[in-house]
Amino acid sequence: MSPSLYVHIPFCLKRCIYCDFVSGIYDPEKAKTYIEALKKEISRIPDGKPLSTLFIGGGTPTALSAEVLTDLIKYIFNRFEFAHDFLINPPFPPFTEGGSELTIEANPGTVDMDKLKAVRLGGINRISIGVQSFNDDELSFLGRIHTSKEAEQVVHLARDAGFENIGIDLIYGIPGQTLERWKMTLDKAVTLRPQHISTYELTVEERTELYEYLKNPSLIPPLSKGGDMGVTICRRAKPGGNTLPPEDMIIEMYEHAIDYLTSKGYVHYEISNFALPCYSCSHNINYWDRGEYYGVGLGAHSFIAGSRFHNTDNLDEYLDLISKNKNAVKGSESINSDMALSEAIFLGLRKTEGLTLKTLSDRYERDISRHYKKELEELMDAGLIEFSYSNGLRNSSN
Ligand code: SF4
Repeated sequence: MSPSLYVHIPFCLKRCIYCDFVSGIYDPEKAKTYIEALKKEISRIPDGKPLSTLFIGGGTPTALSAEVLTDLIKYIFNRFEFAHDFLINPPFPPFTEGGSELTIEANPGTVDMDKLKAVRLGGINRISIGVQSFNDDELSFLGRIHTSKEAEQVVHLARDAGFENIGIDLIYGIPGQTLERWKMTLDKAVTLRPQHISTYELTVEERTELYEYLKNPSLIPPLSKGGDMGVTICRRAKPGGNTLPPEDMIIEMYEHAIDYLTSKGYVHYEISNFALPCYSCSHNINYWDRGEYYGVGLGAHSFIAGSRFHNTDNLDEYLDLISKNKNAVKGSESINSDMALSEAIFLGLRKTEGLTLKTLSDRYERDISRHYKKELEELMDAGLIEFSYSNGLRNSSN
């Protein structure tokens, strides 16, 4: 299969309290320099097969101006051929199965109709909107720069701008969140009928504000209105508590998401992901299938020809290395056949369809029922996986 391309935009208008992604505060001048470096890095990707998918993620790609974004998108499309040339049928071709999926991530606090139209007309045919919650208290606690109403409006705007493949991301397990509130968020999401819904459990990473707040709730700052970069920042209210919901409630939230979304026609195709039929995210499926991908930009990861490598996550170092025509790669790892098989199993088990023995043995030339006999038996005894010679391997919790 053709490789896919991930392009990282490491800028946000403001840091969310739970975030440990490679991203800093947006600075237009720095962003301009970064985009030029990014183009240089993109130009060095060897010519080869057409790419299968594109994902412009971050950070907040839509923190960039419409002009900078469309210039970058144009550069990418001039540089690469994609498996299906959707540009032959502008301005708004229907999303077609088998066509290239070309995604941009968007923060609802950074887009308007002009930017959405510019991106759509530039050729991007899928948008992934970071809604996170339809509850304003939860949004402000998380440090998001938008309200629930604004997020809802952006879903409508994206549709009006011509996006026929819209995804939204939601978070559960927020301190103070109740099952009822989570149900309301899911309800609202379904009402908007996006093609794709991702539901992520809030994870507390060290070196984040959230980690510090949970250790010491008195650190939660008071109301602020207006803030960095002129965006309106709501009160960082605690929606009802300073501790994470108990484990059994988090499990209930997860199980409710599965029951509710599948009852509304969404296919649960991966641990955290749901899609209307034919709208699963091809870019992410390529990761879980151990397909090849190029990652460009700060901290971006690649997997090509059996090697995994990643760029530096220090912006100044990245800009310096690229300006000197040097490689920005900071670490790499060659994957041997044992590692490849292990990766195939743990990544493949993320998908609800699981893995077939034939696929594994054809690709990795190994009989896994013999190779991993002991491990499989232990996992089956613990009720964590289902395994049969005819159906292959499945994660029991999916
Ligand atoms: S918008 Fe996304 S990338 Fe930026 S700080 Fe928030 S969670 Fe992190």
